[in-house]
Amino acid sequence: MSTSTGAEQRRAELAENLSRVRERVDRACRAAGRDPGEVELLAVTKTFPASDAALLADLGVTGLAENREQEASPKVTELTALRPATEVRWHMVGQLQRNKARSVVRWADVVESVDSPRLAEALRRATGRALDEGERQRPLDVLIQVGLDERTGRGGCPPEEVEELAESITNMNEIHLRGLMAVAPLGGDSDVAFTTLSGIFRRVRRRFPGADRLSAGMSGDLESAIAHGSTRVRVGTALLGGRPIPSP
Ligand SMILES: *Cc1c(COP(=O)(O)O)cnc(C)c1O
Repeated sequence: MSTSTGAEQRRAELAENLSRVRERVDRACRAAGRDPGEVELLAVTKTFPASDAALLADLGVTGLAENREQEASPKVTELTALRPATEVRWHMVGQLQRNKARSVVRWADVVESVDSPRLAEALRRATGRALDEGERQRPLDVLIQVGLDERTGRGGCPPEEVEELAESITNMNEIHLRGLMAVAPLGGDSDVAFTTLSGIFRRVRRRFPGADRLSAGMSGDLESAIAHGSTRVRVGTALLGGRPIPSP
């Protein structure tokens, strides 16, 4: 099989998956009495090559997400080489160590996984330096990741500390608080988790009107997330297929 045939097949496969996912989003919005234009679709490209990211961009996907800095950084560079004119926005959605702040702000438009004042401060400082050195042109958009599962170490700010963290981020010029993100607990009831999340989101949004994005819902639970007010779903498997190894 020639390479171009392989690429054409992959493109057709991604196109079909994309239309299925968009149909699911539309149906979930209609069921919730919401406008589908309110819900953004992020393609989570972790473990998949930059060539897939390029095909998704060709198909009209405008937001891509990664969960590991070390994997994302070369992939972003590669996509820029493959599609110099592309205007996709890259989102970091995975747990982030403070010592990776300096590298993540070189490629990320949005960091969705801010879960502590110390990480927020590290990103503020790193963004300031990247702006000074011409490595980025705009402030960094951030979301606070809310921890909905206190049993696991999967990251996330404890719900009772979210407003305090929001307050401290809104005092920083280099990073802009745009909303909240969460992952429903593994094996739990996503409706219960997203009900809790939507309550926290309402309170934060009332105090900080610019924090109006809610990033919730993945391949398995996007309908539930949309029913509870999600404005951004992060979809990996349903778009790109199964991942060879479980993502850390
Ligand atoms: C991998 C990942 C997703 C996508 O998960 P799927 O179940 O493959 O759709 C969404 N959000 C985060 C934070 C992830 O790490």
